Amino acid sequence: MPVPARLFTHPHKTTPLPPPPPLPPSLPPSLPNSNANPWWRRYYHLRHHQYAGQVVDVEERLIGLGLPWNSFKRFLVTFTPAATLLIADDIVKDDPEFSKKVLVRYNAPVIALSTVAMIVHLCHYLGVGELLVAVGIFPVAFHQGLLRFLLPFLMVYNSTVNVPNVLRQSCLVIISTYCHYYGDIPERDVFFQTQILDHPILWPFQLFCFNFGATHIIHHFVTRQPFYLRQLTAFRVTPVMLEQGCRHNDLGNHFRANRWGRKGEKSAVDAALMPVMEEKKVL
Ligand SMILES: [Zn+2]
Ligand SMILES: [Zn+2]
Repeated sequence: MPVPARLFTHPHKTTPLPPPPPLPPSLPPSLPNSNANPWWRRYYHLRHHQYAGQVVDVEERLIGLGLPWNSFKRFLVTFTPAATLLIADDIVKDDPEFSKKVLVRYNAPVIALSTVAMIVHLCHYLGVGELLVAVGIFPVAFHQGLLRFLLPFLMVYNSTVNVPNVLRQSCLVIISTYCHYYGDIPERDVFFQTQILDHPILWPFQLFCFNFGATHIIHHFVTRQPFYLRQLTAFRVTPVMLEQGCRHNDLGNHFRANRWGRKGEKSAVDAALMPVMEEKKVL
């Protein structure tokens, strides 16, 4: 007898999960990192595991999950965490517990520094400083002072911290939003939350996020496992997951705004649930 599909899926809605622990009052930002403050993220990452793919999955929604693939917000948020502010207003409407003020308080110091540093550096290469001197907005001495004192700082910070972080963060955002589902999946059912994404076309992005797309599904099933063990176990676990019917290389995910099925189509989720329902009837 073949192994029943989705043998390892969590039971559907049982007792509600306890709320995640509250945020600590205020902590120093981590400067070598130009993305979300880990203390702020801890709270919302636990929430991600509780409600992945639902409207209160703040962590993934803030990086564009559920937005149309061609939306300008999604494009911006892939390259700068500062663009999360554009999405935050949408989340506030769905989740009264989410606070835009807290988001800004925890993340603004580092994200503002990294965004401003990149913009100023770009302006320098485009000759904006010389232009402002030519039209009389910047005094010559002020401009020379910027070149002498600010430019060396920007060169070191952007080349050693900022650009590597942007590269890593952008690859992670592309892969993470590609492997998660949103909007039409059942609540608290890990089977529907992610897919196995190991298509060669995505290898350049996986390179900068430790093969996240191919192994993140294991993390949804075994959350406490460190990332390096997840990769080691993946060689044995992934074939079993494929055998059990987990989704694999669904490259259309982005183009459906991360929905499991097409818009308005409920049958895709129902069809995936069918073997489990039939199994229960047999038992
Ligand atoms: Zn996840
Ligand atoms: Zn996690």
